[in-house]
Amino acid sequence: MRECGTGPYRRPGPRRYHSLNPTFPYSHIPLPSAYLFDLDGTLYQNNAAIPGAVDLIRRLKAQGTPCRFLTNTTSKPRSSIVTRLRGYGFPVENHEVFTALLAGAELARSLECRTLMPLVRSEALEDLKGFELLGGTAVWSRSPVGDPSLGTGAGSGPIYNPDAVVVGDLAEDWSFDLLQQGFTALRAGARLIALSRDRYWMTGRGLTIDAGPFVAALEYAAEVTSMVAGKPSAAFFDGAVESLHLAAGIPRDEIVMVGDDLRGDIEGAQAAGYTGYLVRTGKYQEGQLADLGIAPGRILESVAELL
Ligand SMILES: [Mg+2]
Repeated sequence: MRECGTGPYRRPGPRRYHSLNPTFPYSHIPLPSAYLFDLDGTLYQNNAAIPGAVDLIRRLKAQGTPCRFLTNTTSKPRSSIVTRLRGYGFPVENHEVFTALLAGAELARSLECRTLMPLVRSEALEDLKGFELLGGTAVWSRSPVGDPSLGTGAGSGPIYNPDAVVVGDLAEDWSFDLLQQGFTALRAGARLIALSRDRYWMTGRGLTIDAGPFVAALEYAAEVTSMVAGKPSAAFFDGAVESLHLAAGIPRDEIVMVGDDLRGDIEGAQAAGYTGYLVRTGKYQEGQLADLGIAPGRILESVAELL
């Protein structure tokens, strides 16, 4: 079994189990040493915290249990996500929140990309500081009123030649022109960085198309394969875990990812060696468990049941 790195969280002795409570149905599962939490659909949904979620995070922090927060949300910079969490009452610091957009920037740096075509919302561009941004939604942010209609006209705008095209969730702001810009850049040799390949997420209007279908469209058209920065990329989980500086020797399966996405959160965490707990809030759909053949370590009605 792979183990974690070194750090201040030292847990002496053998594995601890939930054995103090014999009626607890998961007595055979080792007590987690750290938690990774998904945000949308797990800690909050629409415009409110999931009932009991704030109290849970406060209790974990009071116990000194290490926590990190991992989101595939790409429509906002980390600063706004932290502000939102704090607004709901979650005691969260900037360095505890890992976003797919920041992971995408890190991936681009590791690939020595200098110029990026962002296909992410203009308000999220602050997390791509340090890169030269070419075309895509960067054009909107430089327009006088930030109006998407002032972007390059379909088929008539300049040709950009970035090192990579970075794709996030643009929702109703997607246009043929943006896809065409991305396609042209990819055909010219740019890499394709998918901040996420999530198919859909839960919004006030029900299940809603996420970034994944647009990534798939660009892959299909340009005949390229994307690199995924957010969940379920193992590097994304590993980056968050490394930041915890856990003690050497803690098995990976004592680190638990809690989320509502059976593929991105649970299957992704399990593939990276961690344990995945599914919550039945957010995008969870009855029948998925049987259809996808993924077995979470625990299944919770909501995150409030965790402890
Ligand atoms: Mg989620």
